[in-house]
Amino acid sequence: MSVLSCDLHTHSNCSDGSDPPGILVKKAADAGLHAIALTDHDTVSGLAEAGAEARVLGMECVPGIEFGVRASKGNMHILGYFVDPSDGLFSATLKRVQAARAERTPRLIKRLSDLGISITADELESITTGGQVGRPHFARLLVEKGYVKDFGQAFSKYLARGAKAYVPKSILSPDEAIQAIHSACGLAVLAHPFSLQCTSRRELEAVVQGLCQQGLDGMECWYSEHSPSFTRQCLDITGKFNIVATGGSDYHGAAKPYIKLGRGKGNLIVPYECVEALRARHKEKYGA
Ligand code: AMP
Ligand code: ZN
Ligand code: FE
Ligand code: FE
Repeated sequence: MSVLSCDLHTHSNCSDGSDPPGILVKKAADAGLHAIALTDHDTVSGLAEAGAEARVLGMECVPGIEFGVRASKGNMHILGYFVDPSDGLFSATLKRVQAARAERTPRLIKRLSDLGISITADELESITTGGQVGRPHFARLLVEKGYVKDFGQAFSKYLARGAKAYVPKSILSPDEAIQAIHSACGLAVLAHPFSLQCTSRRELEAVVQGLCQQGLDGMECWYSEHSPSFTRQCLDITGKFNIVATGGSDYHGAAKPYIKLGRGKGNLIVPYECVEALRARHKEKYGA
C-alpha cells in the first residue's frame, strides 16, 4: 500500500545543500513525494525557482526557511512555513542573521588558522553558490584537504558547539524568530527536537511549553534522526499543546549523502496530512 507522503525540511545550494532549488523539486516529484518544502538556512533566495519548477511539474511546494536561534543547550532551529518575504520585520531579521553569518566566516577561518589549519575565503567562495556560508562548507574543505577523515570528525573535532574552532553565530532569540515568521504571515515550527538534547520527556515538554507561550505553531515529529519511540513522544506533545505535527528529512544532497530525500536514513515516511494540517492552521490564523 502506498501512503501519500511529503518532505517539509530540505536544503538547496542557496544555503548548504548541493542541489539547485529547481532540481530539488524535480527530484521530489521523481521520488513520488506529494509535497516538498524548501527550508534553506537564513535565506529565501531559492523559493522563486523552487516554486516555478513546482508549477511546471504540478507539484506542491511550501515556501519555507530555517533559523538557528539561541538555546541554553543543544541546538535549537525554528522553521518558518508560508512566509511572505516582503514583510518588513521579516526582511530586516533576514538581513541581521545574514550579516551575523558573514561576520562569523573570517572568525572561523582565523580560529582554524590558529590551530594550524589553512582554509581560505577563496576556497569557501568556490564551493558556495548561494552566498550563505555554513559549517558544512568548512567541513567539506576540512575533509578534502585531509585534516579530518569525514564530516562527523570535522564537526566533533572543530565545528560543533564546544569544539576547538567553534564560533557562535545565533543572534536571534526563539521569540524574535517566531515574531519575524508571524510578521510574515508564516507558521513557526520547532525543527528536529532531538537536537535540543533534552534528557527527559519532562524537560522537552517544558521547552515546548515555553515556545508555545511565544506562539509556536508546530513541531517536527518525523525526522531522519528520530527513533520511532521519540517520534511518538513528539506526537504526544503536539497533541497535548495543540500544535501541528510536521516532518522532514533535512535533505542536503551530496553534502549529507546518507540522508535521502523523503526517506531520511531509509525508513522515514512523513504523512501528507502534515501539509493539510499546516494549511488548515494557516487559514485559521490568517484567513484564506
Ligand atoms: P550553520 O548553519 O553554519 O550553523 O551549520 C548548520 C548545519 O551544520 C546544519 O545543516 C547541520 O545539519 C550541520 N551540522 C551541525 N552539527 C553537525 C554535526 N555534528 N555533524 C554533521 N553536520 C552537522
Ligand atoms: Zn543545512
Ligand atoms: Fe536544522
Ligand atoms: Fe535543516
